[in-house]
Amino acid sequence: MSHPGHNGRKRALFIGRYFDIEFYLDYSWFLIAAVVSASLTANFRDFVEGQASGVYVAMGILAAFLFFLSILLHELGHSLVSQRCGIPVPRITLMLIGGVAEIAREPDDARSELKIALGGPLVSLALVVIYFALSELFAWMNWEPGSAVCWWLSAANLFLLVFNMIPGYPLDGGRVLRAIIWARSGRLRYSTFITSRIGIGFSGVLAALGFLLLGMGKWNGMVLFVIAIFLKRAADSGYANAVEREVLAGVLVGDIMTPHPIALSSTSRLNRAVDEFFLAGHQLICPVCSDDGDFRGFLRLDTILEVPLEKWPYTSAGDLDIGDFEQATLTVDQPAGIAMRALFRSPADGRLAVLEEGKLVGILTQQDLSQAITVRSKLETMLAK
Ligand SMILES: [Zn+2]
Repeated sequence: MSHPGHNGRKRALFIGRYFDIEFYLDYSWFLIAAVVSASLTANFRDFVEGQASGVYVAMGILAAFLFFLSILLHELGHSLVSQRCGIPVPRITLMLIGGVAEIAREPDDARSELKIALGGPLVSLALVVIYFALSELFAWMNWEPGSAVCWWLSAANLFLLVFNMIPGYPLDGGRVLRAIIWARSGRLRYSTFITSRIGIGFSGVLAALGFLLLGMGKWNGMVLFVIAIFLKRAADSGYANAVEREVLAGVLVGDIMTPHPIALSSTSRLNRAVDEFFLAGHQLICPVCSDDGDFRGFLRLDTILEVPLEKWPYTSAGDLDIGDFEQATLTVDQPAGIAMRALFRSPADGRLAVLEEGKLVGILTQQDLSQAITVRSKLETMLAK
């Protein structure tokens, strides 16, 4: 369970939409699925005797497929609980080193966090039991290949369960521990700090182990390295999210915007607009308002440059394409916490117009937001001493 940005989407194959969740297969998955199938085929050849060659290949492919299905079910476990707690899950992606359920936001309370964190491991635990029972059943029926595949799946799910329950954030065990500390202390940031330290420590142990294996000439040390890097990154960004959430609590968009922006009138001619706004203000994009101050959109210098120079004195700013301004606005009284996502979505190069009763009263940029976060967290660290 992790929360990456949207950049992974293009590299994945869309499988379908079930339970209001879009399922994707990362292209890296095909490579790893082939490697896992091949190594499982070799393993089964060693442990189960006297089968036709095709049977081993079928066992390898089936076991690999069911293993990836197990990972998917684990992520689905988190996702369905999350939906029940009122937090949507837009996407589940199966990738190189497991699955990722993209949960839309952090839970509001420790109880939901605990339930969502346990949803995946409980599914894994059920799979351990089911595959173990099936393995025993097939052994009793003297069907050796079926028994071996189910026994391996039971062990693989047990490994998945134990690994995920290590108490370092962002692993499931770390989330469980975070929920417990959060419930006791009431402080999300503090509990994220402690559990992400454990997560980073654990990623260091994994990296050292990977290094040791590589030193012994074992290529699978590389896999540990990749997992260690992934964990370290997720632990860092998880903590950064918790800090942002805490320092921005109770802060409004109006508190962090840059007020009194200079706006272009929608009736002003292009030659004057270029002189007075783009040249004087050295900006590449400028807010446009009607004469009575209602926000109309953002005008780009590039849009003006598409108009022939001789037409500039006869064309006004409002005649040009000034964009879909619905996507580029916030109001002063909205919580600052939602500005982050809105800024990423903004069609106006990472800036938003801040409105009060339809009138432009400020501009919010990514820089405004990150500075507001830095200033507040510095002051808070000092006051906490
Ligand atoms: Zn999980």
